[in-house]
Amino acid sequence: MKIVKTIADVRIARWRDADSTWGLVPTMGFLHDGHMSLVHRARQENTHVGVSIFVNPTQFENTGDLDAYPTDLTRDLALLADAQVDVVWVPAPEVVYPAGFQTYIDVEEVTRPLEGQSRAGHFRGVATVVAKLFNVFQPTRAYFGQKDAQQALTIQRMVEDLNFNLSVVICETVRETDGLAMSSRNVRLRLRDREQAAALYAGLRAAQAQYSHGERRAEVLRECVRASLSCTDVTEIDYVSVADPVTLTELDQVGASGALVSVAAWFGDVRLIDNLRV
Ligand code: AMP
Repeated sequence: MKIVKTIADVRIARWRDADSTWGLVPTMGFLHDGHMSLVHRARQENTHVGVSIFVNPTQFENTGDLDAYPTDLTRDLALLADAQVDVVWVPAPEVVYPAGFQTYIDVEEVTRPLEGQSRAGHFRGVATVVAKLFNVFQPTRAYFGQKDAQQALTIQRMVEDLNFNLSVVICETVRETDGLAMSSRNVRLRLRDREQAAALYAGLRAAQAQYSHGERRAEVLRECVRASLSCTDVTEIDYVSVADPVTLTELDQVGASGALVSVAAWFGDVRLIDNLRV
């Protein structure tokens, strides 16, 4: 496994064998089984796999959250070597954003609701860094998690709108045994909050159960999620949403194309998100 820092070295590794197919898994590191499921899928579907580890400053709206972001590069590299990754790009911030940098990508409607309401500028940072990763790696396929559903939709929109020559592959959310979606942030939860955070997924499942019993009123489905959280000491709920699964417009009634049920809530000073398709 090659660990590279510069853009030139990524390109040399990428184009050593021009006939190869490359799967790219963009990450911010502190890897868990959710990330690794993307890596394994990329490993199955491509001759070569590249992973980037970069805590992207432009997608954090406050520096406190950026500074608190956990890292463990030694452990990450060991996991990636075990998974037979070919290239890991670990760029310094100034490699990605050199002095004078001033070009950003703004994906419009789909980034406005949900995470876009709570985290101003977040998706502008995500789209910009992912576009750069695509240009540097030029992967055949790029792998993202359904856990960050709005991010996945944003990247799919950008790829289509700007004609990036690659396929976007969205992978199922990997969960802890109690249903909590794996996240690098989970380690920051206090023990009690960690136990109670399982209510996020329980609420989504309750909404899904109502839906499969024929319920189509979006507000009733939202209420399932809120009811589950009301049994906890949740610090704050940013949103509970039942939205069109492509445009993310809030629904009154769930129609033929189903819905994305999603939630963002704070347990202590940790913000967690999760979602389920119905
Ligand atoms: P991050 O390091 O948080 O930026 O995540 C890197 C990639 O891993 C993103 O595409 C995430 O959606 C994906 N991911 C994070 N957590 C999970 C999970 N629990 N299951 C599946 N994919 C995940």
